[in-house]
Amino acid sequence: MKAAMLYGVRDVRVEEIADPTPQETQVLIDIKVCGVCPSDVRWYTGARTTDQYPRRLGHEWVGEIMEVGPEVEGFQPGDRVVPDWRVVCGECHYCRRGIFNYCSNTRGALVRGGFCEEGVAIATNLRVIPEHVSYEEACFTEPLACCLNGIRKNRIQPGDDVVIVGVGPIGLMHTQLAKYHGARVIVCDRIDNRLQKAEEVGADVTIQVDEEDAVARVTELTDGRGANAIVVAVGSTKAAEMALSMAGINASVNLFAGFYPPGTMDLDPNVIHYKQIDLTGSHDFTPHDFTTALKLIEYGIVKLEPLISHRLPLDEIYHGFEAVVHQEGLKVVIEIQE
Ligand SMILES: [Zn+2]
Ligand SMILES: [Zn+2]
Repeated sequence: MKAAMLYGVRDVRVEEIADPTPQETQVLIDIKVCGVCPSDVRWYTGARTTDQYPRRLGHEWVGEIMEVGPEVEGFQPGDRVVPDWRVVCGECHYCRRGIFNYCSNTRGALVRGGFCEEGVAIATNLRVIPEHVSYEEACFTEPLACCLNGIRKNRIQPGDDVVIVGVGPIGLMHTQLAKYHGARVIVCDRIDNRLQKAEEVGADVTIQVDEEDAVARVTELTDGRGANAIVVAVGSTKAAEMALSMAGINASVNLFAGFYPPGTMDLDPNVIHYKQIDLTGSHDFTPHDFTTALKLIEYGIVKLEPLISHRLPLDEIYHGFEAVVHQEGLKVVIEIQE
C-alpha cells in the first residue's frame, strides 16, 4: 500500500510499504480520510524530532472496515469507524484515578500512522460513525475530544464572557463549544480570514490583535471586569500573558495549546492570588471525551465542514503540511483515494 513516511525535517515521501495484517482482536480498515494535526506538523518542521526515521504520522484517521480478526465481536466489514488512538490499559495508576489521558501503558502506536491506504486498530477502541456524519467530519473526533478535555476546565456558565485566543481549527471548535455553553464569545487573532470564519461559526466579537489592544477591548466589553474564561489556543507565551491580563475575578485561564518553541512567560503571582484566577492546562483526551466528541458532531452542535480549507490526495501531503506551516487556510484533510 501507499504510505507517507517522514524521513527528517521537511522530508516526507509517499512510498510503497507492506500492507498491515490485523491480529486476533484487531480490524483492518480501508482509510478514507486523515486530518493533519499541528502535532504532525511539529514533526515535519523538526520542532519535535526522533532518532528513529522514517516515522509514520497521522492519528486523525477514519475509514471502512475491510476485515475483522477472529476474536473481534460487534464489527463487520463495511462498518464506518473512527479509531481512538489512545489505547488505555485501565489498570495503571493514572487509569485507576480516571486520568486516562496519562495512561502509563498506552499502546498508541497500534493505531498511529494514518496517512496511508490501510490501517489496523483494536476493535474495542473503535467508534461507529453515525450514518449522516461524513468521513471528513468524523476525522475531527480526536481534536474535538481534546477541546472537550480542555474547555471543561473553564467551567463556563451561561452569560459568561469567554475569550478564545487564536482561532485556527482548534480555536474555532472552542468558539463553538463556548457558544454552546451559553457564553458571549470574544475571539482574538491576527489573521483576518480566521476572524471571519470565527464569526461564521458563532463568535460574537472579533478582535484583530495587530490593530487593536485586545486587553483594553475585553476590559471595555466587560465593564472593566475582565473575562470569565479564556482559552489560549495558540502556543505563544505572549498570548498566554495577554490572556492573564484579560482575566477577571474568579476567571479560569486554560493553556490549551503546547508552546513551540518552548519559553517562559512573565507572570505576576499576585494577579493569580488577588483575582483568584484558576490557571490550568489540558492535554489530549479521555476515551469518554472521544465518545462525546463524536456525539457533538452527530448532533450538529459543532460544525466542522466550514473548518476544512484543503482537501488533498495522499501524493500531495507535502503541500498540506506546508499549508499548515504557513498558516494558509485552516484544517487540511488528506483524502485517501482507492
Ligand atoms: Zn490531533
Ligand atoms: Zn493505564
